[in-house]
Amino acid sequence: MSNIVAIVGRPNVGKSTLYNRLTETRKAIVDDFSGVTRDRHYGVSEWTDHKFTVIDTGGYVANSEDVFEAAIREQVIIAIEEASVILFMVDVTTGITDLDDEIATLLRRSQKPVFVVVNKLDNNSQLADSTEFYSLGLGEIYTISSMTGSGTGELLDEVVKHF
Ligand code: GDP
Ligand code: MG
Repeated sequence: MSNIVAIVGRPNVGKSTLYNRLTETRKAIVDDFSGVTRDRHYGVSEWTDHKFTVIDTGGYVANSEDVFEAAIREQVIIAIEEASVILFMVDVTTGITDLDDEIATLLRRSQKPVFVVVNKLDNNSQLADSTEFYSLGLGEIYTISSMTGSGTGELLDEVVKHF
């Protein structure tokens, strides 16, 4: 399980939609007492002969409001430790939020390859809106629609270069 792609980001940006699109099979979640472990889904994917594990984070454990941000932060820190590549998903329809900025700060300090994935680009009229995400300071942005799958091939072509 050497090639690991973790999808991180705040709630509702479309992480699970992308995860479901990428994964063919789902491993059973290990019954663990750790909320963090239970709050991650592991699946397998393949692109151009590269096999890899995809990790979807967040959204499985009910969190009270006050532990919510801390839980997201913890998922990002674990992703930085265990992933080969991190997909940092943001939402073009909302733009950059405070939580996005906070996650970006953590990721900028990491030594891992980080792909800024701007999701919900369902039509090209939203392309202009996507440029604001360059200001996260994480380099190139990749515009996709998890719902239609557009842009995901171009993203994966770049991701597998890091394996
Ligand atoms: P998560 O909380 O980050 O895992 O986000 P989800 O995958 O659960 O998606 C949150 C909401 O955004 C759902 O209503 C999805 O149907 C919607 N969504 C996800 N991807 C897209 C997309 O590419 N375009 C649009 N318009 N909606 C999307
Ligand atoms: Mg989710």
